[in-house]
Amino acid sequence: MQLQPGVEFDVISAHGKPFKSAIIEITSYDGRPQKAYAPFNRFSDGGTLLFLGHLQGEVLRAKQVREMRTDIRLAGLPQENVIAPAQNRQQPGGERGYAYFGPAQAVQAGAVKVLVDPKTPEWARETVLDTGTKVAQYYEKAYQRPLREELFITVSIGSDEKPGLSMNGGAVLGQLAYHFSGSQLAGDHPKKREMLVRLVAHEMAHIWQLNTARGGVGGKDQWIHEGGAEAMALDAIQQSGVASAESVNAYRAAQTAACEKLGNSVETYNGIYACGLMRFDQLGVGIVPLWRGLIEATEAKGEPYSEQMVRDVAAAQRTATAAALGSGG
Ligand SMILES: [Zn+2]
Repeated sequence: MQLQPGVEFDVISAHGKPFKSAIIEITSYDGRPQKAYAPFNRFSDGGTLLFLGHLQGEVLRAKQVREMRTDIRLAGLPQENVIAPAQNRQQPGGERGYAYFGPAQAVQAGAVKVLVDPKTPEWARETVLDTGTKVAQYYEKAYQRPLREELFITVSIGSDEKPGLSMNGGAVLGQLAYHFSGSQLAGDHPKKREMLVRLVAHEMAHIWQLNTARGGVGGKDQWIHEGGAEAMALDAIQQSGVASAESVNAYRAAQTAACEKLGNSVETYNGIYACGLMRFDQLGVGIVPLWRGLIEATEAKGEPYSEQMVRDVAAAQRTATAAALGSGG
């Protein structure tokens, strides 16, 4: 725990006797909660990603909330390869991403490290890598920021027994974890590629939102980073040529209709995305200069993205645009 040195001290005890180590067994949970990182991501070859962030966070001590300071060291079973997630730069001992345990080795692909499940269908592998490369190049240029650390991308494949197609992604500090499952995963189709292109660009947008020395994504106002990632993704896939204008327009129209059905509210899970996107569309400011400004603002202030920040940055840019138009003649 984060205690004040010299003022507070603590002894971990069981029945009054201090001890220095303990073993905790964790039952695996393969569900995929909607609003939290999946605790486990399984690969078809027995590999597993474990989300370390769920072992970190706050604790209660004498009815007071304390930050827990975790120093995690990883050791696999014999024969198991272990890949540790990056340290939390912003907060020493703070939340970290997925640790990998399993038989596979990561491969270096350009500036990123990749670990792809051997069961990944070719169309999905190609789309993740190709879109990932092009969109990352676009974001780096548009947002004028190279990534602060090497990106580690994983693709894991779940059961093909359930009907339909499920494609999930999770972006954490320096990491992107994709998980695909369902009977419809096999077989190439343009519609499936379109969905995956959007998912990749969306998750990649989070990586840039998190690519700051301070501030970044907070726990509140989810529509900002989710709706923002939607808007950044649509811009990126169209500008970098991985999606057509028609495909982008059709998706935007569908999301706009979905948001109207939800009463223009960002209070529901779907509303965070659909109405979040609409809010950015309606700001009347270009998404690239807007998010460039937001990333600068979160870093300068050391505060997470907020509604007030969006309003301030948008207002400043409207003023700047008006001034430029005025002097341009
Ligand atoms: Zn997202």
